[in-house]
Amino acid sequence: MHILYLDDDPRMESTLRRIVRRHGHSFEFCTSIQTCKAAVTQTPPDLLLLDLGLGQESGLDLIEWLATTKQRVPVAFLSGYGDDLLDTAQRIAKARGIEVRGLISKALLVNDLIPLLNPLPSPELPAAVSASAVPQNPSHHNPPFDATQLAERLNAGALEPFFQPIISLVDGRPCGVEVLARLRLADGSLLEARDFIPLAETANLIDALTQDLFDKIIALRERLRALDLNFLSVNLSRFTIEQPHATELLQTLVTGLNGCCRVQVEITETWARHDRQVLRDFAARAQLMGASLAIDDFGTGYASLRNLAELPFNFLKIDLSFVSEMFDSIKAMTVLMAVIGFGQRLGLKLIAEGVETEAQRDLLFRAGLDLAQGYLFGRPSSIETLEELCMQSQFCIDHGVILHSLE
Ligand code: C2E
Ligand code: CA
Ligand code: CA
Repeated sequence: MHILYLDDDPRMESTLRRIVRRHGHSFEFCTSIQTCKAAVTQTPPDLLLLDLGLGQESGLDLIEWLATTKQRVPVAFLSGYGDDLLDTAQRIAKARGIEVRGLISKALLVNDLIPLLNPLPSPELPAAVSASAVPQNPSHHNPPFDATQLAERLNAGALEPFFQPIISLVDGRPCGVEVLARLRLADGSLLEARDFIPLAETANLIDALTQDLFDKIIALRERLRALDLNFLSVNLSRFTIEQPHATELLQTLVTGLNGCCRVQVEITETWARHDRQVLRDFAARAQLMGASLAIDDFGTGYASLRNLAELPFNFLKIDLSFVSEMFDSIKAMTVLMAVIGFGQRLGLKLIAEGVETEAQRDLLFRAGLDLAQGYLFGRPSSIETLEELCMQSQFCIDHGVILHSLE
């Protein structure tokens, strides 16, 4: 590995050079941003050790440059200013698309650095989600088409319900599914929800889309019944809930599923703080027809806790950003534990979103979470893949093999 180290304090050089060389890597040192840029351009390092405080300059200036010049160089931050600054720098870098491999407190230099050198950590992915299974087309957040084309695709029947399992952390059994909309494009590729739902909302197509999705879910009723799920969760846009016919729309799904599983409606926290009157009315009607309610993306919407406590929610879905950042810092972990404690004290059932690693799963289980969802257990998939997954898990339970041993 080639390690490049930027620090305005030359006394650090010899210490680091010794450690890096002892681990069999090559080492280059610079004391200014300008020389560091030249070094990166000439030989892009495998790891850039970046001091945050550089006299008049700051390591963040280099991050800015790496991002704007699209240099794919992984970094590890060093600082003598404490964990908070390291944590903040990491957030800034990640938001700019820079991979952060580690945070090194200068006070704990040797302990923090060795794991990065010996060997470089690879992103922790479960065996079931190998790199080849990760979709290769990065999702484009700007839809590549306009409202007319979206309407055409919807009319052509190109909307597909995908299902992501929600797993009991106690026995590894799929207890429920979340339905996530997908759009099949003319070339056969699939568009993820985040790439067309916002357009559907602004182009006034969301109600038609939701109705179409519900009809397609209902058409799969008997196959869903065979999976013996406790609940099926759907996302309802606030644009839909604001309409007087929102409850009618939901009723078509509840009636159409004919008791094959309980319907759960997910409403994002951002929306939950807006019109409490409308939401309370919708929530009461939904519960009266036998549906349950979940706060989605909990922790991101800044709804007042009192607001949330007053609304009749049954489930709380902890946003995936808390889960993905839980091991980043003690602060991130503390916030996650506070969110879990809040939900538990209100008597809500908790679902962790975005669980990708066994370490995340195990800690959430120990923190008392019942349910989890994420790539570790299964990506959103067609009904066929969901059926296979449920069958495998049933097989393991029938034969006394606990799928996800948490002992
Ligand atoms: P959401 O409800 O928070 O859905 C979870 C999103 O996280 C999904 O993206 C899912 O594919 C993704 N996800 C699941 N597990 C993991 C994981 O382990 N790691 C990571 N990084 N991501 C994971 P998707 O399908 O693109 O949906 C994006 C958003 O679009 C949804 O966020 C939801 O708000 C909205 N949406 C999806 N389907 C519908 C729908 O039918 N109607 C409405 N109104 N909104 C929908
Ligand atoms: Ca959701
Ligand atoms: Ca969510």
